[in-house]
Amino acid sequence: MESSSPATVSADHGPGPTPADLLRRLRARGAGDPVTHVERVPARAGVPAPWPSWAPEELRAAFTRRGVVAPWQHQTQAAALAYDGDHVVVATGTASGKSLAYQLPALATLLADPRATVLYLAPTKALAADQLRAVAALELEGVRPACYDGDTPRAEREWIRRHSRFVLTNPDMLHHGILPGHAQWSGFLRRLAYVVIDECHTYRGVFGSHVAHVLRRLRRQCARFGATPVFVLASATSGDPATAAGRLTGLPVTAVTEDASPRGGVTFALWEPPLLPPDSGAAPPDSSSVPGQAAGDHDDLRQVRRSALRETADLLADTVAEGVRTLAFVRSRKGAEVVAANARRSLDDAVPGLGDRVAAYRGGYLREERRELERALLHGDLLGLASTNALELGVDLVGLDAVLICGYPGTRASLWQQAGRAGRSGQEALAVLVARDDPLDTYLVHHPEAIFGAPVEATVLDPANRYVLAPQLACAAVEAPLTPADLVLFGDGAKEAVDELVAAGALRQRPTGWYWRHRERPEVDLRGEGGAPVCVVESATGRLLGTVDGGSSHFLLHPGAVYLHQGVSYVVDELDLADGCALVHVEEPDWSTHARDVTDLSVVSVRSYVDAGPVGMFLGEVDVTSQVVSYQRRRIATGEVIDTRPLDLPARELRTVAVWFTLSPQSLALAGVQSADVPGALHAAEHAAIGLLPLMATCDRWDIGGLSTAVHADTEAPTVFVYDGHPGGAGFAERAYGTASAWLRATRDAIAECGCETGCPSCVQSPKCGNGNNPLSKPDAIRVLDVVLANLPE
Ligand SMILES: [Zn+2]
Ligand SMILES: [Zn+2]
Repeated sequence: MESSSPATVSADHGPGPTPADLLRRLRARGAGDPVTHVERVPARAGVPAPWPSWAPEELRAAFTRRGVVAPWQHQTQAAALAYDGDHVVVATGTASGKSLAYQLPALATLLADPRATVLYLAPTKALAADQLRAVAALELEGVRPACYDGDTPRAEREWIRRHSRFVLTNPDMLHHGILPGHAQWSGFLRRLAYVVIDECHTYRGVFGSHVAHVLRRLRRQCARFGATPVFVLASATSGDPATAAGRLTGLPVTAVTEDASPRGGVTFALWEPPLLPPDSGAAPPDSSSVPGQAAGDHDDLRQVRRSALRETADLLADTVAEGVRTLAFVRSRKGAEVVAANARRSLDDAVPGLGDRVAAYRGGYLREERRELERALLHGDLLGLASTNALELGVDLVGLDAVLICGYPGTRASLWQQAGRAGRSGQEALAVLVARDDPLDTYLVHHPEAIFGAPVEATVLDPANRYVLAPQLACAAVEAPLTPADLVLFGDGAKEAVDELVAAGALRQRPTGWYWRHRERPEVDLRGEGGAPVCVVESATGRLLGTVDGGSSHFLLHPGAVYLHQGVSYVVDELDLADGCALVHVEEPDWSTHARDVTDLSVVSVRSYVDAGPVGMFLGEVDVTSQVVSYQRRRIATGEVIDTRPLDLPARELRTVAVWFTLSPQSLALAGVQSADVPGALHAAEHAAIGLLPLMATCDRWDIGGLSTAVHADTEAPTVFVYDGHPGGAGFAERAYGTASAWLRATRDAIAECGCETGCPSCVQSPKCGNGNNPLSKPDAIRVLDVVLANLPE
């Protein structure tokens, strides 16, 4: 949501140290220099643009009343394209005012044509409600904006269908309510001029693939009524937004990416916690192996880094001691509490009482409590706050002097959103990214261009996923019989999916098309990802906390798992797979849990491949059998492994898409990899490659899996597989295949640039390894990747 700007903290205490001075003092603290890079992000003056001539005076006046003096250039650029009938995606930074880019053409059209209508889609009801407030506040005659979602009272629904000309809803309601009821919506759809898709980067993976087909179903109904609406999309900064938006809508989309809004100056430091000496007595991050397997010798893996949490706590204490108002972002609530507690303790050691100036922010605060926290920080009663991202949802805090980010938050968009809390007008601020023990974090602190250069991650989705396509075609067939033209609209794989539905008795072919044969509609959940979702129920109260998709349930909801829900920690007592529910109780232990699985994989078919001499690169379908066999408990503060406990869960089958590469044994021997070291080399390369894939596509480790082997039965060669963790694939493996050389180059560099000697969690160790990170060979992984990169065309 872009329409409201958060309240700015006013500068009401004396000037503190400059960001450069502050950083100099922070980095002089320890023995070595933990700073790998300092970037000066200069203040940027906004580039205003004149109101477009087609924007009626009434509309300009309404925006001016709401505080928009003049639009920024990217807003008018996108608005002009949309007004001319081009589908457009505006992908610019947080708070750059993306909503004006679609409000301008949409509302100008509504004012000029008293019959026209606009459909606005947001990923959540809350966002749609925010947007409704923004549009309603313009008080434009005859627009009658209204939210239409699951909460809309029945009595109001008919009025909205008949009279609202700006309907705000979400993809789920479009799928479950509006499209199946298209007859009642024919008047609205017939006059539909614009479809606005806000926060479109959230439509990724399997969910995004479903939404892509819901939008095709919408286009199909509009076409039946003679309407061809223009699509205007708003996205966070992302790689190649035009392609992602094109896949989502099935239409050619022009991207506007040049952000012309103003921004304060920030000194941004990348910080890598130092490696601890091997004899420091620190616990190894990974000291036990899966029961039933020989315990590996992990003595050579004992080298670890100082934890990012401790480093962040020290930085927070130091900045607070300097009188600098600082916000620290930590990924988990428990982690935020650890950071605040450690910072408080060291401040009190220095000056008794000073620790009171630091607090942890917990999710779930009441509105008044949040306002009190804002007030305390504003007035300097509070100088340091450690928080999870929950803060982004509730507290209006910008204009801080320093922001500490403990661990890469997963995407550049979130990174900038967090760093964007720093900097008040006219004053420079400091932002520090503290790397965690993770290959991606390691890569980023050594490759600042991946953060400060061109955007790298793209939003991926795969509308051709047959596990999505077939049910969506069934939904479409209920809405109107499918025709040969529809097969083109729904794209690759549509004909095969229709044939399957005919063979399964769901569709009947007649001369006029394919007809749905059943009385009831197919049940299709846009957010379900294969396998029925598992309900999470609090035993004591019977309260339903939420659902977890079937695919992840064994990992996240096994007995003993620590399950986080809206910042509150629960422990799972029982996972009842037959009933599809997990019973949990509130408990906040000092450890986190990490499930481990064993995996088997067979190749079903090859979609595409690159024959590069001794190296082969493949994309295809695979069958994966995996079983969650145990879980580790680890201390949150230190990462120390407490123990590994066995689990008794059934194996699960997954047909999905994988990318894999093979190497000839000769090429490995030539590169100096001894045959005994091949398994460890491939295994290490696989871990790091999975860790780096989020650089290329918005996914996380849990969206992808891997397998490596010195000889695979299907490829008959040393092979590394990386596969999508969702039935039918979600586009991640495909994206990896399409960017293979860049992806594996980054993987190679991350391993080579890690300062450890024999491998650590920052490079080749993985927190979800089913083999207890054994065997692993860091130097040989580099050799493997060098062979691949030397042969693979760019
Ligand atoms: Zn390492
Ligand atoms: Zn592994």
